[in-house]
Amino acid sequence: MRAPGAAEYVPTGADIADLRAAARACHGCDLYRHATQTVFGEGPASADVVMVGEQPGDHEDIDGHPFVGPAGRLLDRALAEAGIDRDRLYLTNVVKHFKFEERGKRRIHKQPGRTEIVACSPWFDAEIDAVRPQLVVCLGAVAAHAVLGPTFKITAERGETHTAERFSVIATVHPSAVLRAPDRTAAYADFVRDLRRVEAAIRGLRGNA
Ligand code: SF4
Repeated sequence: MRAPGAAEYVPTGADIADLRAAARACHGCDLYRHATQTVFGEGPASADVVMVGEQPGDHEDIDGHPFVGPAGRLLDRALAEAGIDRDRLYLTNVVKHFKFEERGKRRIHKQPGRTEIVACSPWFDAEIDAVRPQLVVCLGAVAAHAVLGPTFKITAERGETHTAERFSVIATVHPSAVLRAPDRTAAYADFVRDLRRVEAAIRGLRGNA
């Protein structure tokens, strides 16, 4: 039987703390079956910026927190270099459970499919409703497609500011793509360049606050 999606697990009008608690029991798709736990978003509930990635990775699945593995550490370094305070961001993922395949003792990341992305989207929608950010920063194609639509092209439009109905959006690559890049130095420099644009956008919106 097909899993029903997350909608029936999402409490209406809940704040972030209640959403996080409810998400622990989500069986809206099959990913909960093999993952360790739900990895919900974290950060100030009143953050003006939401940063969203694809899904938790191996470390995040075990620790229960977003962006704490190697990609998260790279993100931390790049944020610091761009002058962005991670503690003022609300950080989350489009999909809240780790999807992987086992190879020996290793768990290898598997990209979530459209069914899982759609099933999990009520959680991200609820996070946006609760936090009400002015800027959403998408890390990677899965996040960018979820926010900006399936025709969005990261390679062509990364670092540009887009205006959605309720907030502005800037998309860049996922930090794990920087780690996998053949020329990691150049990929990291491009990533920091995009984050500097994010920093300028944040300065603009806080100046206008
Ligand atoms: S991935 Fe999302 S929809 Fe699927 S079980 Fe986890 S929280 Fe629920």
